[in-house]
Amino acid sequence: MENNYKEIHQSAIVVDLHNDYMEERINHPEYRLFANDKHHTDVARLKKGGVNVQFFVIWTRPDDYKNHFARAIKLIDILNHDIDECNGEIKLAGNYSDILSIVDSKKIAAVVCLEGGQLIGRNVNNVNRLYERGMRYLTLAWNYGTEWCGGANDENSKGITEFGKQVIDRLNELGVMIDVSHVNKKSLEDVLNYTDRTVIATHSGAYDVNESKRNLSDEHIKEIARRGGVIGSVFYPYFLNNTDKATIKDVLKHINYIAELTGNVDCIALGSDFDGIDITPAGLENVSKFPNLTQALVNEGYTEDEIIKILGANALRVFKNICG
Ligand SMILES: [Zn+2]
Repeated sequence: MENNYKEIHQSAIVVDLHNDYMEERINHPEYRLFANDKHHTDVARLKKGGVNVQFFVIWTRPDDYKNHFARAIKLIDILNHDIDECNGEIKLAGNYSDILSIVDSKKIAAVVCLEGGQLIGRNVNNVNRLYERGMRYLTLAWNYGTEWCGGANDENSKGITEFGKQVIDRLNELGVMIDVSHVNKKSLEDVLNYTDRTVIATHSGAYDVNESKRNLSDEHIKEIARRGGVIGSVFYPYFLNNTDKATIKDVLKHINYIAELTGNVDCIALGSDFDGIDITPAGLENVSKFPNLTQALVNEGYTEDEIIKILGANALRVFKNICG
């Protein structure tokens, strides 16, 4: 048992769909990806945690900028710079074959993703520009959405506008995954009604386990699963159990619930939100701790095949289908 989980973790391609390194990097300019023992993320700890594919989030607080698109480009430049400082240990990936070749060469694949429709600005062609800079998923809204898509803290009646539909069309044309974490209920329903494509929720839990606005209803979990999408298991204690203290067992509660609800683990992935959360569950304090989750999944009775899917194969399946 003891070694078994290490072997499983080693053999899996571990994919974390949501890491906010860039937020901490901007708040603390001395904090760098190539070497750091602060916050949650750096190369050494990613390696220790067996992370093979890391999605790096570009995000802006809606009130902070007039031109969010320009800020997004600037942040992508900074991320590229920080990756360049890592001496080839981390490499940007734009498609599935990039990921496989980077992982084969024992390096970490980085994928750029954007959190919040404000980053698009009011010009749908900015979606193309961000795609060219590596964006492979867009979280349609953050907690406070835009005029075209409601976020979790917006009024419930706020849905997707015509411009929002244009953004969705463009994402679908280019092969960018649509992330519905943070999106309010009405907008999520509008998205599901407007497009029949696979969607993902990169860092959310199950509402029936913990009644947080950031968690998904049974109906939406089942629909995301039916479309072949994934839900990234989030580690934020308040989303897990509505307190500031959580353990790996709380993460498992959401995983177990979703597996039981959908009948299998095919829609379950990882979306830690490391460096975007100020508190973490005991045992999952930073990116080096992912093996502890694998150990817990083994102890919970999940099969090797199921664990490999949860750790990354499910997320890669969607990435390959949508991003190519
Ligand atoms: Zn988030």
